[in-house]
Amino acid sequence: MGETPSPAHGFPGRLLVFEGLDGSGKSTQASLLGKWLSAQGYRVFATEWNSSELVSSVIRRGKKKGLLTPTTFSLLHATDFADRFERRILPPLRAGYLVVCDRYAYTAFVRDAARGCDPDWVRTIYSFAPRPDLIFYFRVSVGTTLKRKLASRQKINYYEAGMDLGLADDVEESYEKFQTRLKREYERIATTDRFTLIDSSRSVEQIQAELRAHIRPILENFPTGAALTHDG
Ligand code: ADP
Repeated sequence: MGETPSPAHGFPGRLLVFEGLDGSGKSTQASLLGKWLSAQGYRVFATEWNSSELVSSVIRRGKKKGLLTPTTFSLLHATDFADRFERRILPPLRAGYLVVCDRYAYTAFVRDAARGCDPDWVRTIYSFAPRPDLIFYFRVSVGTTLKRKLASRQKINYYEAGMDLGLADDVEESYEKFQTRLKREYERIATTDRFTLIDSSRSVEQIQAELRAHIRPILENFPTGAALTHDG
């Protein structure tokens, strides 16, 4: 099972990462891909970046009282990610699963850079996180994500809009400005981090077909096994 270790990280499983702005369609596609892989008999483990219990209450309290600086914010998120990595990502990777990861360290790189942290410092903190086998970057305009968000009646939250940075008084305006910063940062690292670019302005079906085509080489000689698991 999972006999051939990944050239990227040396574990028998494979790490497939989904990155992009909020509303770019990551979770929609990750869920479809997970089901498709599972239906073919692959052992899949799906995980998303939700705050772990370990630090979520600290982050919540810090946010409420406005106590967090970009540096302390970044360190708490790194702790959160390390917890997720060691509990949720590493074990299935060791056990030979296809790990479908909705957001990875790249999310921290772009968020922290947009908040003014030094990108090299942030990278050092996350040096425990190995390189994935594939990083899908869901490229879409900020305007499209805003339209999708408003259409789905999801509320824009304070931090998603970067309201703490004082970019604008209006939530929508602040959201556009902050998401534009995040996008600029994603675009800046897309080449050096070898992102697989996915034009996410297209239909759900078109995008899913492209993802399946990209993942085929990884599946060659990859063993099948038991059912779909999810950490939620
Ligand atoms: P993310 O996980 O990147 O935040 P979601 O998958 O939750 O994005 O999608 C955000 C919203 O956009 C949802 O309401 C979803 O139904 C819708 N959506 C997802 N993909 C597309 C697409 N390709 N075209 C139009 N709407 C989409």
